Amino acid sequence: MKKDYSKYFVKPSIKDARKRKSTETAVIDFNEYFLMKGFGKGKTYKIETYGCQGNEADTEKIRGILEALDFTESDKLEDADLILLNTCAIRENAENRVFGELGRLKQYKKNNPDLILGISGCMPQEEKVVDRILNKFQYVDLVFGTHNIYKLPEYLETVVLSKERVIEVFSEEGNIIENMPKIRENTKKAWVNIMYGCDEFCTYCIVPYTRGKERSRKSEHILAEVQELINQGYKEVTLLGQNVNSYGNDFTESEYKFSNLLEDLNKMDIDRVRFTTSHPKDFDLDTVKVLAKQGNLMPYIHLPVQSGSNEVLKRMNRKYTKEQYIELVNNIYKYIPNASLTTDIIVGFPGETEEQFNETLDLVEKCKFEGAFTFVYSPREGTPAAKYEDDMTMEEKKQRLYKLNELVNDGYLRGNLRFDNKIVKVLVDGVSKNSDEILAGYTENNKLVNFKGNEDLIGKIVEVRITEVKTWSLKGEQVG
Ligand code: SAM
Ligand code: SF4
Repeated sequence: MKKDYSKYFVKPSIKDARKRKSTETAVIDFNEYFLMKGFGKGKTYKIETYGCQGNEADTEKIRGILEALDFTESDKLEDADLILLNTCAIRENAENRVFGELGRLKQYKKNNPDLILGISGCMPQEEKVVDRILNKFQYVDLVFGTHNIYKLPEYLETVVLSKERVIEVFSEEGNIIENMPKIRENTKKAWVNIMYGCDEFCTYCIVPYTRGKERSRKSEHILAEVQELINQGYKEVTLLGQNVNSYGNDFTESEYKFSNLLEDLNKMDIDRVRFTTSHPKDFDLDTVKVLAKQGNLMPYIHLPVQSGSNEVLKRMNRKYTKEQYIELVNNIYKYIPNASLTTDIIVGFPGETEEQFNETLDLVEKCKFEGAFTFVYSPREGTPAAKYEDDMTMEEKKQRLYKLNELVNDGYLRGNLRFDNKIVKVLVDGVSKNSDEILAGYTENNKLVNFKGNEDLIGKIVEVRITEVKTWSLKGEQVG
């Protein structure tokens, strides 16, 4: 009897995703799902990851699942039995790159009809993307979103054994899946999700629709994961969430919040704790005070401001004013004088005037940022701002971006100059891109350092004296 696979043809819907219900988040144990060891024996996979750290962390889970099924990673894309694009939807050009790649991969599918070609992540969470795949990329075998990674074994079984196409994307708000296996990219630095989703609904942003409602992992699960990483010899963890400062707001039976989590991690035997991303609205003084204890809590904070104009911030639904942001920044510098701050800024938001843009430049000067990710606003279908009137040309927006970047680059250099002739601690990542004899790693303040050293220092924390300062990196000599 032929199985009915129509259940998989579930399309996502931004309209449904917009609804936030007050249902309790279910915590699902992956071990209850995983059944098919050996299924991937003799088969290889390759994953291409686009976008933010959240997607990189998801890729580590997908790899974990595939290797638990006995798939092995292929060296080359053209040799792989399974190719998966784990995608990002944040800006239109990110999406265009993925469609371009899907077009290129059609040839691989022609050469090897047994190849399984899949797309996962944020893009399939958008209805229009799934429609486009259904219509224009019929050779794609597997489409799933951010909420149902744990069902990958079941989907693969369907594609391989039944030769059926699987498209399943949940528009629902998402649960928490514990105990998914992971193959981490790095053996010393690890991502640790502390929460999933986002409830902020900034008017320009697609994330609340693609990643579901905000839901925090239980602290005991997070601390256990960090302890496991310590046992494995990890030196650095980066806590991940779209708004880490609202961690715990969804707990109904506990007052535990982000500052408590940092306090608990501060007592643990991990060398470095970082976190991203912070939201200025929820970054409380308790958190600043805990960070001031330093130890393993790194003096580096990424604090997206988006704009320096109160009018624009309001239309972006950021829920803070420029004055409140500056007050927070001043508190950070007061309690953590050696802190390095970076930010995200969007230019050319619909209706942004020259004067409002100048307010952003002014704020960048005042806050002494040591770096920033700067973006031209990209309309995302289904978000409120996509309907806002926008009469600025792309050329004008780009001019603003260049002007802003000049100021931001001054900040990078100023931040690096602070460390001229100082001794810094570098966690060595590996050899430099440009030379095998040069090692590269990051300082506590997240500055890239290159220095001459032996490869056995990789993965260790090394003291380096800075001898040369450039805009994007520092050069130094090992001390002792
Ligand atoms: N949750 C984080 C936050 O609130 O800052 C990061 C979200 S997003 C992955 C990273 C950055 O992309 C945002 O801070 C914002 O500057 C930028 N971004 C988001 N949507 C955008 C859009 N539609 N156009 C241009 N930039 C956008
Ligand atoms: Fe997007 Fe705003 Fe959520 Fe960040 S906080 S993910 S910018 S909606």
